[in-house]
This record gives sequence, structure tokens and C-alpha cells, in this order.
Amino acid sequence: MTESSIISLDEEAVQNNVAFLKKKIGKNVIISAVVKANAYGHGIEEIVPLFEKYGIKHYSVFSYEEAIRVYNSLSDPHPIMIMGWISDENMIDIIKKRIEFFIFNTERLQVALSYAKSLNTKINIHLEVETGMNRSGLNINQLNSAISLIKENKDYIDVVGFCTHLAGAESISNHSRIQKQLKKYNQLLTVLKKNNIKPQYRHVANSAASFVYPKARMDMVRIGIMLYGFWSSTEVFIQYINNKANKTDPLDRILSWKSQIMSIKDVKCGEFVSYGLSYLAQTNIRTALIPIGYASGYSRSLSNKGIILIQNQICGVIGVVNMNMIIADISNLPDAKIGDEVVVIGKQNGLEIKVSAFSEISDQLNYEVLAHLSESIKRTVANKQ
Ligand SMILES: *Cc1c(COP(=O)(O)O)cnc(C)c1O
Repeated sequence: MTESSIISLDEEAVQNNVAFLKKKIGKNVIISAVVKANAYGHGIEEIVPLFEKYGIKHYSVFSYEEAIRVYNSLSDPHPIMIMGWISDENMIDIIKKRIEFFIFNTERLQVALSYAKSLNTKINIHLEVETGMNRSGLNINQLNSAISLIKENKDYIDVVGFCTHLAGAESISNHSRIQKQLKKYNQLLTVLKKNNIKPQYRHVANSAASFVYPKARMDMVRIGIMLYGFWSSTEVFIQYINNKANKTDPLDRILSWKSQIMSIKDVKCGEFVSYGLSYLAQTNIRTALIPIGYASGYSRSLSNKGIILIQNQICGVIGVVNMNMIIADISNLPDAKIGDEVVVIGKQNGLEIKVSAFSEISDQLNYEVLAHLSESIKRTVANKQ
């Protein structure tokens, strides 16, 4: 390996996850693959062609830049939907490329409409309504003014979707809040229908909601974390697996992250390791230096807590996580040598370091660990045999 570390994607896991989700969600519901945050750290350019290969025909992103990266990664044209940020300057390109986007306030609609008129073309919008998350979305008054604008400008606006986002479907503690949101959504949908506007896709569910509230699947679901092989929360997994005879996880993790030993050192009892006083050798130990750090996405909160795999054994990270390096205790590996493989995330023979292990020891969400994986790490695809 010439790189200091490398992320590899398991094509078979992609195939498995897409097949599982398609089967569970049913063929009448479209799966939009959420590939924001560099496809949850997996790499847009690497994962999008795989999703496409296994039959994903709709893509959701947060921003203009991500939308363009997806656009350039697809081999056939499929709908791309921007759920968040587009600057006014980029609106023209979005409209020309027929990329779809959320309308979450009336200002956005007015800006987009004026560009549509100047280009003499249609914009493809999803009306996002406020149903109780209080983050983004049109309230009833804003929805009414959007409806007037839409009716007055039928030739320039195509209402593709009507949507909202649920505030925490992965936890049963939010159950009544979610129910209220669904009710509110349906009320607002009635307002739209009364005005004879019929969106092609009603969509509200992310991964968790698609499983916990099957009614929320409607016409389309926006699936992120589960496509990558993770359950939104342990609760969602337990709820799913509870009445199944087979208790094995039907999802497979796609991503693994590997590095190698860069240097080895013997440290005497009583010496400190790395910056400051955070790790004191209690006996004579042997350490391995590994060229990953918080700049590559290995959180400082894993200082003295992280674990990695070398030579099929779990080794602890000692001392603080540096910008580009971590140090592991390899006292139990007398044969370890420079260049040995280090598994940071993923499997080595029978053992596995899961992203959830990071989350548990350092209070980070799976989502957060993945989103922090630096874009500068090279991604490769491990093809099917
Ligand atoms: C991120 C996001 C999703 C996907 O959520 P997952 O929990 O990863 O499935 C869906 N909808 C919106 C609006 C999002 O921002």
C-alpha cells in the first residue's frame, strides 16, 4: 500500500443491502439513495456507480456541489434531489441540468421561478413542509403563498414532490411527536390537493421511519444509513429482528479502513507516550506508530480508548490521537513488523472493529464517524469474485 491508509468498499455488501431494502420496502415505493456527506464517508464517485449497478434509480444530496458530483458519477440519467443548500448563483446550473430541489421557504421559490422564466424552462420542485421538527419547511401560510405562485406559473413549475422530515423516528421516545408530524403532513397534503396540485411523490421517511412506521413509506423513501449497512439505532434493529426466526443482521457493512505500521518502538516503564501526560507506561511496552489521525477522521475523543486490529489481535490506542498519527500498544505481538496491516474499521480474520465500537466508546453517532472520514483518503472497490 503506497497510501498512508485506504478505504475499501465491498461490492457484494452493496448488492446485498440494496436487495434487502428493495425486498422489504416493496416495488411500489421508490428508494432514493441519500449520498450526502460524501456518501456517508464512502465516497460519492465510488459508491454511486455501485448503487446504480444494483438498481438504485434516485439520489438525494444536501448541496449543489454534491449534486454535481452525483450527476458526473452516474452512467444513465436518474433524478437527483437537493434537500438543502443551493446558492442563487448555482440555481441556473441546477435548472439547466434538471436537478430537483426542496422548496423550504418562499424566497427560494421566488428566486428559482425568476431563473426558470429567464431560461424559459420548468423547475422540478419538492415542497418541503414544516410539520413539527422546526428546522426547515413551509408553514401553512408559506404553503398557501407557494400554492398561489405555482398556480400563476404553471408553465414554469413542476411539483414533483411533497415532503417533510421526521424528528427522530429511530427512537420510540419520539413516537407521539412523529405521529403528530404525520397527521400534520396529511392535513397539509389535503390543502395541496384542494388546489388541484398533485405531486408525483409523497415522501417523509428516512431509514428508521421506513422500518418503524411502514405507513410513512408513501411513494418514496429517502434511505441513507441502512444502504451503507447500519441500522439507524439499536432500537430499530431489535424491533426488526424481534419476530424473525433468523437473528442475524441482514445488512452488511460496505466500508473498511486500513492502514499499516509505520514504525515500532520500545518504551520503558515510567515513560510517557505521545503529547503530554495522558499515557504513562506501567511496564516496559512496545508500541506501533500508525499514520492516521484526527485529520483523516480518527476522532481525538478516541485518545486512550480506540482499538485497532494487527495480526488478528485487538490492540489499544495509547496516548492522545495526533493530527496524522496514533500509537498502539503492541506488547502482545512480538512478531509485529513495519508494514503490517492495521485494521481501523472492518474485519481481520474472525475479528471486527465496527463503527459502532467507535460510537460506544467515544459518544459519536455512526453517522458522525462516517461523515468525518477525510475525503483525501483513497477509496477503492473490492469487486465481487
Ligand atoms: C439524511 C437525511 C435522510 C436519510 O437519513 P438516514 O437516517 O440516513 O436514512 C433522509 N431525509 C433527509 C431530509 C435527510 O436529511
